[in-house]
Amino acid sequence: MKPAREKRSDKPLGPIPAGFTAIDGELAIGGRKASDLVAQAGRTPLFVYSRARLDARVAELRAAMPQRLALHYAVKANPYGPVLSHMAGLVDGFDIASGGELEMVRHAGIDPALVSFAGPGKRDAELEAAIAAGVTLNCESEGEAARALAIGERLGKAPRIAIRVNPSFELRGSGMKMGGGAKPFGIDQDRVPALAKHMIEAGAEWRGLHIFTGSQALDADAIIETQGNVLDLASQLAEEIGMALPKLNMGGGFGIPYFHGDEPLDLARVGEALEARFANLPENLSETALCIELGRYLVGEAGVYLTRIVDRKVSHGETYLITDGGLHHQLAASGNFGTVVRRNYPVAIASHFAADPAEEANVVGCLCTPLDRLADKALLPKAEVGDLVAVFCAGAYGASASPSAFLGQGPAAEILV
Ligand SMILES: *Cc1c(COP(=O)(O)O)cnc(C)c1O
Repeated sequence: MKPAREKRSDKPLGPIPAGFTAIDGELAIGGRKASDLVAQAGRTPLFVYSRARLDARVAELRAAMPQRLALHYAVKANPYGPVLSHMAGLVDGFDIASGGELEMVRHAGIDPALVSFAGPGKRDAELEAAIAAGVTLNCESEGEAARALAIGERLGKAPRIAIRVNPSFELRGSGMKMGGGAKPFGIDQDRVPALAKHMIEAGAEWRGLHIFTGSQALDADAIIETQGNVLDLASQLAEEIGMALPKLNMGGGFGIPYFHGDEPLDLARVGEALEARFANLPENLSETALCIELGRYLVGEAGVYLTRIVDRKVSHGETYLITDGGLHHQLAASGNFGTVVRRNYPVAIASHFAADPAEEANVVGCLCTPLDRLADKALLPKAEVGDLVAVFCAGAYGASASPSAFLGQGPAAEILV
């Protein structure tokens, strides 16, 4: 027999975000025990979003970033109504990516004048609803721009138009690249001035540029470099257009640590570098309203997915904790949403949050597919049927980005505390 030490093949879990404590040994979110939250919601699986964590994150950002920089929330990260309403009191603007999201922000009572609409493939009905409401369109093609002008004419309302630029550079090290080279997003940078001039001449209300280059970057230097490139490009394009930019959406891409070894983004460094750039802006950006748009950075770490263990079994010497949740709510944690190598998200036994690890276990979902994994070979406190499992970093791209209809399981419950 091999000594136990050599047999151990545990895989590290991701880092648990700041701000989560234990009450009576149990995970507490927003000062409330996980079991109480499940009792309030009436069921598992359950997404819990913490107002306190949302507030803290926005406060950190405000403190680190230049005062001049406005903060937009990218709704696609988490469109849950109460989260949207709460964010309305925290951020300066909202970025949507569909007519459905326009409905959601309006339902949350958000002023459409604070909203911009990006996304390739906007349909005429979506353009019409956005123009009628006074939303800024981040135009993604010449064809879309022509349709927006025609719809504006029909409605007797000048469309508010910004142009989404497909820059020739990208955000180094980002998890999901959305700029540089051939892309379905935006208009190649060399064609932007001609289109902008055309839109202005045709009577559109010119709102400036949107330059988004990527997502999930943890490297401050990469973000600093990209923000510099964005400001340079915006100034160059404003020069070629022959008009100062009313507004520049500088993109975002701020990442959060999901996996073992990930280091949090050095926000202070990014803020200092931006402050220095803002102190030396070219003339044609001196009056420009400047903003960044963030999704996961604002909401990702504020959410926890709670799921209950329904079975515990052993197969070929490995322990399986089988939960009532899974990839149909947390596709990203299962490793099936834009990752090449599956790594463990931060996962804990919520019922025994304060306990030391006691065994190696696989946490899986209830779906009849081997893809449905929440944690592989994780070192966890001993857990039994009925205990709650917490998957952290569940505030972004969870409930709304997972196939909840798969296998007839239906959506998880959601609450904001
Ligand atoms: C997805 C997206 C975002 C949000 O990305 P995060 O990684 O969640 O910050 C922002 N802007 C645009 C244009 C996007 O497509």
